[in-house]
Amino acid sequence: MSSGIVYLVGAGPGDPSLITLRGVECLQRAEVVVYDYLANEQLLCHAPDSAERIYAGKIGGRHNQGQDEINSLLVAKAGLGKVVVRLKGGDPFVFGRGGEECEALRDAGIPFEVVPGVTAAVGASAYSGIPLTHRDITASVAFVTGQEGNDKNESNIDWDRLSLGGGTVVFYMGITTLRRNMQRMVEHGRSPATPVALVRWATTPCQQVLVGTLADIADRAEASGFKPPAVTIVGEVVALREKLQWFDKRPLCGKKIIVTRAAEQAGEFSGKLAARGATVLECPTIRLVEPESWQLLDLAIRDLPNYDWLVLTSGNAVRYFFQRMNALGVDSRALAGCRICAVGPKTAEEMRSYGIKPDLVPTVYKAEGVIDEFSRLDLHNSRVLFPRADKARDVIPSELKRMGAQIDSPVAYRNIFPDRLPPETLFALEKRSVDCITFTSSSTVQNLAAMLGEELMLDMLKGVVVASIGPITSKSCRDLGLKVDIEPKVYTLDALAEALEAHFG
Ligand code: SAH
Repeated sequence: MSSGIVYLVGAGPGDPSLITLRGVECLQRAEVVVYDYLANEQLLCHAPDSAERIYAGKIGGRHNQGQDEINSLLVAKAGLGKVVVRLKGGDPFVFGRGGEECEALRDAGIPFEVVPGVTAAVGASAYSGIPLTHRDITASVAFVTGQEGNDKNESNIDWDRLSLGGGTVVFYMGITTLRRNMQRMVEHGRSPATPVALVRWATTPCQQVLVGTLADIADRAEASGFKPPAVTIVGEVVALREKLQWFDKRPLCGKKIIVTRAAEQAGEFSGKLAARGATVLECPTIRLVEPESWQLLDLAIRDLPNYDWLVLTSGNAVRYFFQRMNALGVDSRALAGCRICAVGPKTAEEMRSYGIKPDLVPTVYKAEGVIDEFSRLDLHNSRVLFPRADKARDVIPSELKRMGAQIDSPVAYRNIFPDRLPPETLFALEKRSVDCITFTSSSTVQNLAAMLGEELMLDMLKGVVVASIGPITSKSCRDLGLKVDIEPKVYTLDALAEALEAHFG
């Protein structure tokens, strides 16, 4: 009966976007995921919610679960017919004991597949700007365990060849044994002046790089309290970092920034900060929900053939309106006799996804633009339908009424503030690891205060740099007792991102 299978998937070195497409496919099909300390937990988001998640971490050599137990677990779960993903840091077959896990599966007659991953040495190489080989410098590279022979007098490593060949050497698991291994390379003939780089938490926002030589790197590591997990890159190629460093040179690298945002600005600003190297924690302060009652909107939808105009002023309004039509079993033909106005190109694009091309898109993309266009038409006795958000401004209904239109403006959706912060954001604030928080409208700061309570918000944001998009938002911050540290001269997201860069850069 067993259709169970185990996929040994390489999670890559840390950055969650460095997993392979095949790895993601396997996770999407997983019924059980058994993951390691070094596999980024964010990757679990690819697995279905229903998948069982089992942590089988081994921290710094302390085996939370013995290898035998892990092997038995994989055999047992797959034996029940389950699709199991064994998610391992880096590559499963590079110091990952993937070989042993496959042997156990083979012995138990369980089918398996292996999906490679970017191994730590390769991730560290790319993200520290240290090519492991280079035509003018070295033509070979070796991956070596730093733990080998820990309890043995004898070593299986050919230290002579490793030291004399001139090739690049990358040690894994070699921080606690750094001094001894560096000495060994010198004793076996490598010049003490050979450059060495330690790369910790490579490819993640916490990446740390320490550079020295075979002679002094152990002292430097000790002096700076350098900790695992890290790889040690030994060889002349290390000198290239000076020219090729890029990842940790980006202006906001290492900065943790909270982006409070209204739902409709999703992603855009975060993308600008991430491109500058920041770790972005998104914190939505607005959530869209259904109206308290559909009654008025339903009446209007059933009466659509009797309207002359339909006005929609946001993509959200378009979505809620058409979804409600659909729920009532009314299709787009009900709009045949009605002219349609979209406030701007984004709203128009959303309409096109429902098969509707608007008749009117004003040149100024806001309520005033709509009014300006309508002022050129004769609206006397026209019936206008304006499905809107609950907290929308009243400009359109009142102005169109003044022009003689008969206007109905039922609520199509409501903006409310979510009742809590996303857990990662809350966790980072509690750990005091946040560098900066950005506010891009008054409602973002007011809603955050409402979500957390003013006192708690002020306490949590102690020592956090406050960045506001412009004077109105800044005033709302100050009204709540927050000091504004950054405000750009121009009130755009681009200018705000640049101001952050200037502040931290
Ligand atoms: N299979 C893994 C290696 C597991 S052995 C791989 O292919 O990468 C564990 C060692 O890998 C750690 O001691 C450390 O030397 C290295 N390592 C794993 N992830 C790392 C990271 N993000 N940065 C630096 N070293 C890392």
